[in-house]
Amino acid sequence: MILLIATTNPGKVAEIRDQLQASGYEVIGLNDLDHKIEPVEETGVTFAENAFLKADYYHSRTGLLTLADDSGLEVDALGGRPGVLSARYGDQGMSSAEQVELLLDEMQEVPDSERGARFRCSIALVGDGVRRVFEGICEGRIARSPSGDNGFGYDPIFIDPSSGRTFAELSIEEKAGRSHRGIALREVLEYLKDAS
Ligand code: IMP
Repeated sequence: MILLIATTNPGKVAEIRDQLQASGYEVIGLNDLDHKIEPVEETGVTFAENAFLKADYYHSRTGLLTLADDSGLEVDALGGRPGVLSARYGDQGMSSAEQVELLLDEMQEVPDSERGARFRCSIALVGDGVRRVFEGICEGRIARSPSGDNGFGYDPIFIDPSSGRTFAELSIEEKAGRSHRGIALREVLEYLKDAS
């Protein structure tokens, strides 16, 4: 039984493979296919729409059970931005560090009591007779400056309320235990175990 992860990012495939080990599926990424498939544009306005867009597309081209995720950061003081545009926040080609700086600039005047934010993740699973979505939400707040070297993206400024540390200060295991993606993946694991 093969489960295709709709990403070319080897780090993401490894993380998902690790968390879905007990499912009994052989987890592969797009780079493991013997033919290259043109990427699909993420035009959805919600995380779930984008996740289904990718999962439907790659399932239709491979016939494999396909998992696709879409995630991002919603900041209360910015009316939920950057949201589905988290990867494309700011000017085109900005690095993650530059995006973090831009976000901190935008939030300079926002008091501590109003710095709430959440990471949200939708995971779509599409196969023959299967079309489901799993959601993970992780509440926190935006720090005043970056700290920590682990993780990626907005991790250095996202404070986990239970430890008071940023996601970039947590180990991979600690982050997986609390993160939006970790929460959604545990639901996927339960579903795959029940379905097999
Ligand atoms: P994707 O769904 O993995 O493509 O993530 C979209 C964007 O959301 C990423 O480029 C990051 O900017 C942000 N993001 C999603 N998940 C995380 C996370 O766990 N930590 C930090 N940033 C994240």
